[in-house]
Amino acid sequence: MNLQIFPDIEVYLRRSGRARQLTLRVSSLDGKVSLTAPNHAKTHQIKEFLRGKENWLREKRSQIPESVFVTFGTRLPFMGGDITVCGSSVRKVTLSKDKILIPEHSKRPGAQVGVFLKQYARHLLEKKAAHYAEKLGKPLSKLSLRDTRSRWGSCSDRGALMFSWRLIMAPVEVLEYVVAHEVAHLKHMNHSDQFWTEVKTLYGDYKFERHWLRENGSSLHQFQFYH
Ligand SMILES: [Zn+2]
Repeated sequence: MNLQIFPDIEVYLRRSGRARQLTLRVSSLDGKVSLTAPNHAKTHQIKEFLRGKENWLREKRSQIPESVFVTFGTRLPFMGGDITVCGSSVRKVTLSKDKILIPEHSKRPGAQVGVFLKQYARHLLEKKAAHYAEKLGKPLSKLSLRDTRSRWGSCSDRGALMFSWRLIMAPVEVLEYVVAHEVAHLKHMNHSDQFWTEVKTLYGDYKFERHWLRENGSSLHQFQFYH
């Protein structure tokens, strides 16, 4: 059920028998607003609650970067710099300085850029993972790529590494830090002091990189390739 309290913001209302109080959420993905309410909450209570939250809601929504649908002319981050998507007489996607050239009659330039970035990311992530694993003295098993918002990388207890391919849009040192971090988990499956010492030995000081991810990480998710 949708509540229309504010002319420009739709609120999706969900009733729940288990909810004890009104809980308002704004999706960091698309700005959608949802409100969970106990079954017994009255409509006028809900409306009053929402009106009291209006400033908070608007503030929250303004922080979400708007989606950018990648197509010809889009400028997007790539390994710390910027590249522009350009139509060209090339037969396959080609990097050329600060341009990414796409066949000019392509019907889905965004998807082609996405596929290219993923391949590029895989190549670089595999290379860096091999480098750090050798330094650590541990064998690598599986490496897979995902598009997760919740994490940039992970390491399973079987030693399978997973990375977000969007790291290819971050500065290279940020990608390297994430790889060193996950590879260090091959030895320490926790975030103990020994683990962080290992990361430092493998990678070096990582303050900037962690800070960059916290501050800028979500901006890498605004780019939509498959639309
Ligand atoms: Zn970790």
